[in-house]
Amino acid sequence: MTMQSAPVAKASNGPKMGAFKDKDKPASVRSSNIVAAKSVADAVRTSLGPRGMDKMIQSANGEVTITNDGATILKQMSVIHPTAKMLVELSKAQDIEAGDGTTTVVVLAGSLLEAADNLLAKGIHPTTISESFQRAAHQAEEILEQMSSPIDLKDDNELIKLATTSLNSKVVSQYSWLLAPMAVKAVKKVIDLEHDDNVNLKMIKIVQKVGETVEESELIDGAIIEQKSMGRGGPTKVEKAKIGLIQFQISPPKTDMENQVVISDYAQMDRALKEERTYLLDLCKQIKKAGCNVLLIQKSILRDAINETALHFFAKMKIMVIKDIERDDIEFYSKILGCRPIASIDHFVPESLGYAELVEEIHTSSDERVIKVTGLQNPGLAVSILLRGTNKLVLEEAERSLHDALCVIRCLVKKRALLPGGGAPEMEVAVRLRNLAQTKQGAEQYCWKAFSDALELIPYTLAENAGLSPITTVTELRNAHANGKKDFGVNVRKGCVTDIREENVLQPLLVTSFAIKQAAECVRSILKIDDIVMAIR
Ligand code: ADP
Ligand code: MG
Repeated sequence: MTMQSAPVAKASNGPKMGAFKDKDKPASVRSSNIVAAKSVADAVRTSLGPRGMDKMIQSANGEVTITNDGATILKQMSVIHPTAKMLVELSKAQDIEAGDGTTTVVVLAGSLLEAADNLLAKGIHPTTISESFQRAAHQAEEILEQMSSPIDLKDDNELIKLATTSLNSKVVSQYSWLLAPMAVKAVKKVIDLEHDDNVNLKMIKIVQKVGETVEESELIDGAIIEQKSMGRGGPTKVEKAKIGLIQFQISPPKTDMENQVVISDYAQMDRALKEERTYLLDLCKQIKKAGCNVLLIQKSILRDAINETALHFFAKMKIMVIKDIERDDIEFYSKILGCRPIASIDHFVPESLGYAELVEEIHTSSDERVIKVTGLQNPGLAVSILLRGTNKLVLEEAERSLHDALCVIRCLVKKRALLPGGGAPEMEVAVRLRNLAQTKQGAEQYCWKAFSDALELIPYTLAENAGLSPITTVTELRNAHANGKKDFGVNVRKGCVTDIREENVLQPLLVTSFAIKQAAECVRSILKIDDIVMAIR
């Protein structure tokens, strides 16, 4: 026997047969891809769920981030392997579409990849696997839809429960009593409940200021404007404010091209300075004439948005100046303040101004301040949130967590259905897919079974992270679902398997169904790669 098998092995590696057709290569590329992608998934696995761990990330310049958010962890991780990068992209896609479930999607993808690896080892062709997985994922979406229940967006309590589930797993979870209702209120302020089927989160502006605790954060009934640099000597409090928002500069004009003005004597210099003063004074007077007493100026990269002389004039005219408004924020401010952005002084008319009872500067800490606008006459569909935190790390994580909660509500606006959490949807899909697998033939049956097993990693990990015995929990949960108890999930608080709806652990349908769909899609594209080629540049 040995005599026979030796030459065969030699032939396949030998120069004659193996000249151009290296049959082993696609398989080895595939398996190394799977290993790389799986290691990324394993890195975030311990962060899943309410008892998941947080990660401390140190960037090259020494900055530290503490987070539990899958998308944030992966975004900051330095990933070199091209396939591992696909998983980073995967969580990014989930973040954009759903905003939550960014850890779940990566864990699922890792688990599906492992399943695929085992199937490949059985000799099933990668295309067969990826197509079967695709069909299984499609079926999974249908199952999820069937087990979901509709939600009435008018029911605030229900929405708060959903936002709380998302906040549960965050570093700032002890403040979910404050942040969850805040997220619900904020989204409700910027949408038209009857007609809208999406939420423009840009219309919810979160201003972060270090100081106090997260508990002091508030949803402002009015607007908050960040004041990065101050106007000199102007008023810090304006009652009955008429607010103008300008996109032009109040500084001496410049020519398009580089040019030089040669000044040879004092008389000429006087004239030049005078001209400049008259020009600026003229602009300021026109603004005053329109009745404006609070002026917001867009940041300019070409020249100073406003210069010292003009600031001095405005201070004398008792006009409050807020400069350096970012270009991206113009739409937000124009909506919330009810004013029209003005592109040229000729259009500076009273009708373009917004009206508020009070505009005042408030100190958030010894050297930082924000402008608070209250009593807006016609506030548009926009809202500001002032977020506080004792230090930058907490504050930034609070912002990310609040963003997740806002996204959860947005998911519900997009698709008005919810699911129980705690691994219940994943287990239900697994049990039902496994039953369906019985009706399939050949490799398809194998693939569907492997797909169902892979989904169980979510409840498994939730239990593991909560310090429960994963095997006992998962089998118990599987039995419950097999007996038709489709709302049963891992109850991490009590440490057992119970009806998770009663615990008020709820999540949007969109988050889970998008995660399963995307994970399957990602596995499909990884399986289809049979070589990695380096480009010249
Ligand atoms: P992701 O980034 O994927 O949203 P999370 O760390 O937020 O990851 O964990 C989400 C998972 O935790 C979901 O499967 C959700 O059902 C589950 N979960 C959240 N809160 C609870 C809870 N109180 N009990 C059990 N499971 C929970
Ligand atoms: Mg979450």
